[in-house]
Amino acid sequence: MKVHAQVRLSTKMQDAQILILGAGPTGLGAARQLELNGHSSWMLLEGHSEAGGLAASFVDDKGFTWDVGGHVQFSHYAYFDAAMQEFLGADGWLHHQRESWVWMRERFIPYPLQSNIHHLPADDQARCLQGLVEIAASAQVKPANFGQWIETTFGAGIAEIFMRPYNSKVWGYPPELMSADWVGERVAVTDLAILSKGLVMKTDDRSWGPNNTFQFPKHGGTGAIWRACAKLLPAGKLRFNTPVSRIDLDRHEIGTEDGQTFYYDTLISTMPLPDLIRLSGQSHLKPAAERGLLHSSSNIIGLGLRGQPTTELATKSWMYFPEENCPFYRVTVFSNYSPNNVPDSTQYWSLMCEVSESHHKPVDPSTLLEQVIQGALNTHLIHRREDIVSTWCYRADYGYPTPGLHRNEALAQIIPYFEQHDVYSRGRFGLWKYEVSNQDHSFMQGVELIERLLHGRSELTAFDPGHVNARKHPWPFERWE
Ligand SMILES: Cc1cc2nc3c(=O)[nH]c(=O)nc-3n(C[C@H](O)[C@H](O)[C@H](O)COP(=O)(O)OP(=O)(O)OC[C@H]3O[C@@H](n4cnc5c(N)ncnc54)[C@H](O)[C@@H]3O)c2cc1C
Repeated sequence: MKVHAQVRLSTKMQDAQILILGAGPTGLGAARQLELNGHSSWMLLEGHSEAGGLAASFVDDKGFTWDVGGHVQFSHYAYFDAAMQEFLGADGWLHHQRESWVWMRERFIPYPLQSNIHHLPADDQARCLQGLVEIAASAQVKPANFGQWIETTFGAGIAEIFMRPYNSKVWGYPPELMSADWVGERVAVTDLAILSKGLVMKTDDRSWGPNNTFQFPKHGGTGAIWRACAKLLPAGKLRFNTPVSRIDLDRHEIGTEDGQTFYYDTLISTMPLPDLIRLSGQSHLKPAAERGLLHSSSNIIGLGLRGQPTTELATKSWMYFPEENCPFYRVTVFSNYSPNNVPDSTQYWSLMCEVSESHHKPVDPSTLLEQVIQGALNTHLIHRREDIVSTWCYRADYGYPTPGLHRNEALAQIIPYFEQHDVYSRGRFGLWKYEVSNQDHSFMQGVELIERLLHGRSELTAFDPGHVNARKHPWPFERWE
């Protein structure tokens, strides 16, 4: 890929030692962009043995491949698309039509539910319509939080039936503790024209969203992308199994758990912000972080199954579960993403279940697997326990960066403070902006930061999420012209 005809390094950055912490999509995006710009004085330290971070994949001892939750490729960037092709090659991908569904009231309803309420029982349909009539008649007010946004956007009916229970389950927080600023393209709103057509004509609307088609690696799960990206970088500059345990902002010095010391001019950190604050001893930032930076943990339970999915599940991608008869909020038919996600697709299939956890929604690890299996039986995803041939349990302490009410205040204090000390914190938990925390966003945060440091360009993904999410962007960005 052609990046720039001419490489223009600012004088200050020309010889700068750039140290990157983390080999997830953000750190790898930064490392690759440095190489493409011919800036060779960089090093990347990663605590784990492999690249990928939350976008890594794992193979269990029965040969089933798992992601850390259902990872789907979205892209807002021509640059990201080209990078994906480069990493895995045109033949490395399988292309799918998204089929996402909601399971409730003992039936599957196409997602988004709010456009397909004609599938609900008649009394639920009446509640939904009544709520929509009420909001149409009431004055528009700017919602003070996500809970109010749900009520004023969908009305009390859809809120009670789906939006509140589902969102409480996925986020692990009451919607009143979350801001409404992030919503943008991430939540489908009600289109009354589509809804009424569906009610009268009984037609489904399944086309919503940025990912109505998606691609997935043929082999190796989502992690294959990031392992391939890492392989294209000079091996000597990537240090795996090197957890960072100390950061000295004044001396520009990093200490690792195995006793090594690294010096930097510029540090790019992709570790969770609370870890950056703790490891650098900046305890004065802790109150802002504790008040503003909420998060939930993600428990991923993989069920490797004998046989084949039922006809109902044969073409489904993922399903949402708002009701209380199961602990998971989402389940992916992971064997539908690639037949290579199971040891032998003529004999096995797989389901990957996601359960959120927070202080507001604790999870008992000793009973979680059993609860998930019982939930899969309750929701008819599986019919017999005996078909389970493998189980895989994984917990990501930092799973979702919750858009809390005081997040932006906290970030406005923390991010510039570190930048004054030549530390740039980016990525899903480095910048804590859910709205720009998918793989494409994270990778581009790394890329754009390097473009800012080397060429003075503006970082659009990190600081203008609304613009970035509004459409697909060319490379170089239209705003850079
Ligand atoms: C349940 C779930 C579902 C998701 N679904 C999707 C999806 O469908 N589509 C999508 O595009 N994205 C999805 N994502 C998001 C995707 O995983 C992230 O966008 C991406 O992984 C973020 O990359 P990152 O580099 O910012 O952070 P991370 O992936 O978290 O990487 C940070 C890296 O830093 C390393 N690190 C941390 N601390 C230290 C230390 N002290 N020393 C050394 N190294 C350290 C970590 O080991 C890690 O490798 C999902 C995430 C989750 C949790």
